Amino acid sequence: MITTSKLQQALLIWFDKNQRDLPWRHNYEPYQIWISEIMAQQTQMDRVVKYHNRWMNSFPDIHSLARASEDQILKCWEGLGYYSRARNIYKTANLLIDKHNATLPKRIKTLLSLPGIGPYTASAIASIAYGEDVAVVDANIERIFARLFNIDLIPGSPEAKREYWQKATALLPKGEARNFNQALMELGALVCRPKQPNCSVCPVATHCLALQYDLIPERPIPKKSTKTIPIKMATGVLLHQGLVFIQQRLADDVWGALWEFPGGRMKEDETAEDTVVREYMEETELAVRVDSKITTTIHHFTRYKVTLHCFFVSLQQHESDPVLHAAQEFHWIPFEQIDQYAFPAGHRKLITFMKSNKLA
Ligand code: SF4
Repeated sequence: MITTSKLQQALLIWFDKNQRDLPWRHNYEPYQIWISEIMAQQTQMDRVVKYHNRWMNSFPDIHSLARASEDQILKCWEGLGYYSRARNIYKTANLLIDKHNATLPKRIKTLLSLPGIGPYTASAIASIAYGEDVAVVDANIERIFARLFNIDLIPGSPEAKREYWQKATALLPKGEARNFNQALMELGALVCRPKQPNCSVCPVATHCLALQYDLIPERPIPKKSTKTIPIKMATGVLLHQGLVFIQQRLADDVWGALWEFPGGRMKEDETAEDTVVREYMEETELAVRVDSKITTTIHHFTRYKVTLHCFFVSLQQHESDPVLHAAQEFHWIPFEQIDQYAFPAGHRKLITFMKSNKLA
């Protein structure tokens, strides 16, 4: 039988002594909490801290964020991935200026009406920024509960989600939501980790049913492993009269509004060189020839492993004005200006390679 009050106390005391010194914990300013919560989705904490510091230097408040251009926002986010998060932050900043007096709302229902804010983020902002008595459940907390309460429901199932929210709500000590919710998240990040939890230092070990029954490897129930899907792509860096061609992806596309060199997925029985020539014609109506290979980059995107073959190409014609079919804008720029634009991971790797090998 779990003694809730002892469990709550143990967690709060542990958090007080062991919490990490994170920038947004200095003053719990709602804007900073919001940005940290969005950045922390799918991202390691050391990267979140680095990007959060950079973000706050560029956009210290909601007004400066709303005044910035979408290009500036995406550039600051470049490398964090899942760019719809940055675009939603931007939309929300403008809504906050127009409708909420440049302030993040406290109420869950209002928070949920803002772009990119779902149940978890709304509860995190309400409890951590404003101290509202609402529970949160993220992947860390689900894992802790599965072990602590020996829950054998399928992860991600509606039953499991319902159970975790009920447990989180029942456990929440009144008036302590800010620290208690963070204590759970911190325990999941530092102690009750996915692999090899450090039970010997766990403040709630005496309450943990999975530890008691020797079931930790089975809690949560292991997910079936998802296969990595390989994808082959090719792209071309078009140089003309000392300038390089870049285009901006369509706003509602994957990596929407990011910049890129034209290219795409290789068809079966097509060489990478053929792909580049074909993609240039389809996307820009520019006829190009492949001049030389630059490199091949590999990066991972969700469950895809993307192999990107990269070439220098040149125009086969005098016409250098494209007709865009897969982009909303284009620029011919000196290569030295390329860092002013945000690119997806594979193309950023290519740029880094060209810079470090002085290829452009
Ligand atoms: Fe997690 Fe171990 Fe603590 Fe149980 S005792 S909650 S498995 S760290």
